[in-house]
Amino acid sequence: MVVTGGARGLGAATARAVVEEGGLAVVTDVLEDEGRATAKELGARFVRHDVTSEEDWAAALAEAVAAHGRLDGLVNNAGVPTGELLEHESVEHFRRVVEVNLVGTFIGIKAAVPHLRAAGGGSIVNVSSAAGLTGLALTAGYGASKWGVRGLSKIGALELAEAGIRVNSVHPGMTLTPMTAPVGIQAGPGLFPAAPLGRVGVPEEIASAVAFLLSDAAAYVTGAELAVDGGWTAGITPRRLRGE
Ligand code: NAD
Repeated sequence: MVVTGGARGLGAATARAVVEEGGLAVVTDVLEDEGRATAKELGARFVRHDVTSEEDWAAALAEAVAAHGRLDGLVNNAGVPTGELLEHESVEHFRRVVEVNLVGTFIGIKAAVPHLRAAGGGSIVNVSSAAGLTGLALTAGYGASKWGVRGLSKIGALELAEAGIRVNSVHPGMTLTPMTAPVGIQAGPGLFPAAPLGRVGVPEEIASAVAFLLSDAAAYVTGAELAVDGGWTAGITPRRLRGE
C-alpha cells in the first residue's frame, strides 16, 4: 500500500490505520525528515517522492513492489492548499496547485495501474475534499483541482473495473492537520458550527474511511464519493435548527 503525502496529517494517519489493520505501508512525501520519522514510528518504509514527477512515481512504486512483492493499493493523498480570492490568485499558484493535487493524482493512477493489474486488482483512494463536492470560497485552484480529482476517480472506476481495480474518492471536511492549523481552527465540540456535527474532524476519522475503501469490506464499492465532513456538505440547515 502506498500513501502519498504520508509524512504528516491525514496521510500519516492513513498509513497508521493501514499498519494497525495488518497491512504493509510505504509512506512517500517530499518532506524527508518528517517522512522518515513517521515511517520509522509505524514500522513502514519511506520513499522521497514528488507526486508531480513521473520518474519519482516509477521509482517509488518499483520500490514498494520490490519491498512487498506486489502493489495492492494506492492512496493519492498529497496535496497543497490555496487561500486567496479568485481575483487575487496568481496564475502561477493556480497552476502549481492543480499540478500537485490533480496532475499528481493522474500520474499516480497511471503509474500504479500496471502494478495493480499484475497483482490481480486492488484499490485506489483519491483524497479530494469537501471543496470537491461543493463550491468553497477562497479555494479557486484548490477547489478546481479537488473537483477534478472527484471526476478523475469516476473515470478510473469505469475504466479499471474490468481489471478488478476499484477507484473511489474521499472528501474530508475541515480536519485539524498541519495544513489547516494556520487558519486557526480548533478541535472540540461546538467549535466548528458550520458543520452539523459542530466540530472539525481529526485525522483518524478520515483515515478510517480511507482504510475502509482500501479493504475488502468495500469490495463492491467503486466510483463512490465518501464525504467525511461532519455533514458540512449535506445541505443547508435553517437558522431555527442551528439554535441562532
Ligand atoms: P498536510 O499539509 O498536513 O499534508 C499534506 C502532505 O502532502 C505534506 O506532508 C506535504 O509535504 C505533502 N506534499 C505536498 N506536495 C507534495 C508533492 N508535490 N509530492 C509529495 N508530497 C507532497 O495536509 P493534510 O491536511 O494532511 O492533507 C492531506 C490531503 O487531504 C490533501 O490532499 C488535502 O487537500 C486533503 N484535505 C485536507 C483537509 C483538511 O481539513 N486537513 C480537508 C479536505 C481535504
